[in-house]
This record gives sequence, C-alpha cells and structure tokens, in this order.
Amino acid sequence: MSIYNQSLLNDDSCIAAIATGMTDAGIGIIRVSGKDSVKLVDPFLSDIDLSSCKSHTINYGHFQFNGDVIDEVMVSLFLAPKSYTRENVVEINCHGGMLILEEVLNALFTSEIRPAEPGEFTKRAFLNGRIDLSQSEAVMDLINSSNDFSRKSSMMHLNGNLSKKVKSYRDAILHECAYIESALDDPEHYSLDGYSDELKDKLSNLLSEMEDMSSNFNEGSVLTHGIDTAIVGRPNVGKSSLLNLLSGEDYAIVTDIPGTTRDVISNSINFRGLPLNLFDTAGIRDTDNVVEKIGVEKSLSYINKADLILFLLDSSQKFTEEDREIYERIEDSKASFLTILNKSDLDHNLDLEGLPDKLKANYISISVSEEAGIDDLADAIKNLFFTGKLIDPSESLISNKRQLFELNAAIKSLSLCINSIDLGMTEDVFTIDLMDAYSALGRIVGESVEDDLVDRIFSEFCMGK
Ligand code: GDP
Repeated sequence: MSIYNQSLLNDDSCIAAIATGMTDAGIGIIRVSGKDSVKLVDPFLSDIDLSSCKSHTINYGHFQFNGDVIDEVMVSLFLAPKSYTRENVVEINCHGGMLILEEVLNALFTSEIRPAEPGEFTKRAFLNGRIDLSQSEAVMDLINSSNDFSRKSSMMHLNGNLSKKVKSYRDAILHECAYIESALDDPEHYSLDGYSDELKDKLSNLLSEMEDMSSNFNEGSVLTHGIDTAIVGRPNVGKSSLLNLLSGEDYAIVTDIPGTTRDVISNSINFRGLPLNLFDTAGIRDTDNVVEKIGVEKSLSYINKADLILFLLDSSQKFTEEDREIYERIEDSKASFLTILNKSDLDHNLDLEGLPDKLKANYISISVSEEAGIDDLADAIKNLFFTGKLIDPSESLISNKRQLFELNAAIKSLSLCINSIDLGMTEDVFTIDLMDAYSALGRIVGESVEDDLVDRIFSEFCMGK
C-alpha cells in the first residue's frame, strides 16, 4: 500500500470504460474494475458463470441485456490483487464495432457500475500501491509516445528505474538524518566527531548525481516530446517542398502561387534520429485577406511556442523587404534559429553579410529539389539541441516538469545543507534541509502529494486507461 493520503482510497465503486481505441476494429475491450465487478457483470453473461471462473482465464460466452444477445464475447478475469488496478478486473472482449461497445457499456451502466474517469484505472493502480506516481506518469507517456526514444524511456520508467534511483537517494538521506538524531540523543554511542566532513562528501556525491539527472532532463525531454519546429519564410522559398522532403509525404500542397499554404500543417517525424514536430506555417506577412489573416495569426502563435525556427531564404534571390518583414515579426521568439539557404542548385545571389545578425549567425545551404545538404541540416539541428552524443533513454530518468521541479527542490535543499556544513553550523540544522530534500524526492514518486495534484495528473490520461 502506498503511503498515501487515505481519503482517495475509500472509493470502492465499480467502474467501466472502453479500454481499446475509439474506432471500429476487429476487437474492442471493455474493462470493469472494482470490488464487486464479478458480481455486477455476471448477470449480463450467459454460458459463463463468472463467480466460479478462475483468475487469469479467458471465457467464452454471450453478453445479453433485457433478453437480447448483444454480442458473442470472450471474458477475461483478473482477481485482486493480481490485476492492473489490484481490484477485481473483468475485461469483456467484444466484436470491435463502436455500436456494440457502446451498447454493452450502456447496459453495464444500468447496474451499479459507473463510467470511469479518464485515467481512473491507473489512478487506482497507484492508490492501491501497485505502481508509484512516476510509473503512472510513465503509463501516460508510453501511450502518448510518438517515437522510439520516448517509448523506450517510458518503458524504463514503467519498470521503475526512476523510482529505484529516487528511493536510493531517499534511503541515503534518511540514513544520515537517523544518524544525526541518534547521535544527538545518545552521544555516548554515536560520535559526531568528523561527521560534518563525512556528510559533506556523501552529500556532494549525491548532489552531483542528482545534478546530472536534472541536466539530462532537457535533452531527454527534447527527445521524448520532439522538437517543435516551425518552417518559416516568404512564399515560394520552398517551405512545403522541405516539409514534404523531411516527412517523405506529399501532403502540403506545393505550388508556384504565393500564399498557397494557408493553414498550419503539423507532423511528427523522425529525421535522422531527431524527433521533429514540424509546422509548415502560412506566410506570415501582413495581409488583408481574411482567410490568410487567420492562418497568419495561427502561424505566429506556433512560432512563438516553437523550439526551433527553420528560416528559409531563396539563395538565388536577394534578401527582400518581405523576408525582412517576416523576420521582424518573429525575431523576438525564444526558439533557436537556423537559417536555410534553399535552392543552392541555382545561381547564388544572396548577400550573406547583409542579413540580420540572428540569421547570419547559423546558416546552411541546401537544395530541396536536388536533395543536397540534408545531412548538414541534420547535423546543424543536432548541434543546436545536443551538447554531445544523443543521450541514451536509460539516462533520461526525469520525464516531466513536475518531476524536474521536485528534483531541483531536493538539489537546492542538499546545497543548503552543504552550505550549513561549510558555515560550521550544528548538526541539528542539517536535518531540516535533509528532510526537505527527502520530502521533495518523495513527491516525485507520489508519497505525500496532495489529492488535487493526483486528480490533475490522472485527468490528463485518456479514457479507459
Ligand atoms: P513555399 O511557398 O515556401 O511552400 O514554396 P514551395 O515549396 O511551394 O516551392 C515553391 C517553388 O520552388 C516550387 O516550384 C518548388 O518546386 C521550387 N523549389 C523548392 N525547392 C527548390 C530548390 O531547392 N531548388 C529549386 N530550383 N526549386 C525549388
């Protein structure tokens, strides 16, 4: 059982939701969880006596309601505590049409079974101590993972890698607190002579490990969530062509008519191992055209949130007023800028010296139509976002800002403790900071977190998980 606020544990209602995707498919599964799930589902089944079925079996029968057979089903049974939620779980495998799934679900809701909230199954797994909070977040990350790196790193979290690390830090800190308390209570048996130096050494080691973990967050997070990338430039410089080339798909319309790309098109791609979330933006020049204006506003809002701006210029032409106008609309963006001089297959007519500083600071030449310079593009992006080699998923232990915040709070408390040692303070002062660090680390794995935080985290889950 997790050392967790008891108030959320009192809910022993039975919940149900569609656990598979909300589309028509060969099979659709309805998951039911709760103390009474067997008793409540049983009356809907014919050819299966659920109460006499063994745990971890799948059983053939029919689901019926009001005398009508709704579907031929396979029913899996997972009795507590060996189930996803640690409650009795019944999973009804139906034929996949949404209509059938909804009929089965609605029939179940006529009993005491209620609809599950988003993430409620995982929340129960957490509340019942099967997984901790960081593992629950990993479930969500795994579902949302859009690339191989994020899938691997979510799996590692789910396996408890972060939890194990955090637990080892907490154990080490608690050990020191306990020692200090014992020595203060019983100075005859526990000596504090030379202890401060010893403690400082141990804390410094711990601190440097935790600092590494914290600094890996940015790179890990970039790989996990992808680099939000806006492709920006005046009409006809080759934005859509680049987008098509990078994503290998022909879905942005490439034409010779300026202003064709009216909306923001986004696509998550894996470009030479780099996960990019690409936004092809509508022209962002000033316009009186209403449709275009909406596109322009949308583009600007994406650009403001982007991590990377690929600013495209046509190297066969001079830097135009329109290029400058676009640049000036986005020059304050916090994104990293990479200038792409496209159309290197044509004669070069662009005066690089005359470019604004931010554009000439970092540029590469490519030709989308000749597919030249694409390796340079990948290298340039890697250099912008990764200091060294691309990190391994196992090194990216912290997976979200909530965890990072708590880790940094723990780092701060340990630094304060080292500071107190340097200032020659007494040992009882050390325990205050050590306990603060201990609590902050505890919040990463969900010990001592508030109800509303738990509700917020789980509400971001999808339905049925
Ligand atoms: P956008 O308006 O910025 O999206 O530009 P498009 O991608 O629609 O491209 C405009 C025109 O430039 C099209 O005719 C493309 O085929 C052409 N184009 C794009 N990249 C290159 C390139 O590297 N070299 C040459 N010569 N033409 C290109």
